[in-house]
Amino acid sequence: MEFTLGRQPDNDIVIDEPVVGRKHLKIGYVSDNELLIEDLGTTNLTFVNGNRISKKLISPKDQVALGSYKLDTAMIFTTVLKKIKDSKMDFTQEFNDLKKIYSDYERKVNRLNKNSQITPLLLKAGFTAVTMILVFFLLDDQNLRYPVMMAAGIIGGFVTLLPTKSETNMKDKKDSLDVEVMKLYKCPKCGVSLFSHRWKYWADQKKCDKCQAIWNK
Ligand SMILES: [Zn+2]
Repeated sequence: MEFTLGRQPDNDIVIDEPVVGRKHLKIGYVSDNELLIEDLGTTNLTFVNGNRISKKLISPKDQVALGSYKLDTAMIFTTVLKKIKDSKMDFTQEFNDLKKIYSDYERKVNRLNKNSQITPLLLKAGFTAVTMILVFFLLDDQNLRYPVMMAAGIIGGFVTLLPTKSETNMKDKKDSLDVEVMKLYKCPKCGVSLFSHRWKYWADQKKCDKCQAIWNK
């Protein structure tokens, strides 16, 4: 990929300095640590580490001057890499990495549900049943036996609906799992959250609704 740098606003990178040419440099991406710069026949010339160049491979550590203007080389690398990322559309690889993140999350949530939901419910139901049986055998007064049993049943039923400490813990744990997965489970290009649906749903969509990044070719 190639970019232009110069004083004119139609360049990819604009540097509004009098000594910089209207179109001063052509910049080619080679790797994340190498750019190929080419002077486009300027009056004030281009220098790398003090030497005049017409075409030169540079690293972020090189000192580049456009005439007397010192270029911020690190900034040029950052800008070029960002432009390349912005123009990239195929995020299939990055999207596939989300599959593991989401299935790990689902596995943890399932384990949490299994451990924490059924046990307290059974305990509370069992407690109510035992109370009713005890009342039936221990309370001799016929007039009181059934009203007390009914009261125990109603209280027991009500208690069953109240969350126990372990259920509250479970909710806290689930919340922190959600927070963790939300940090990672998002569009690899634009970062929009994918948390509203499972991985398979998005895989069937094949692209991001928001930024149109392609996920599956
Ligand atoms: Zn997106």
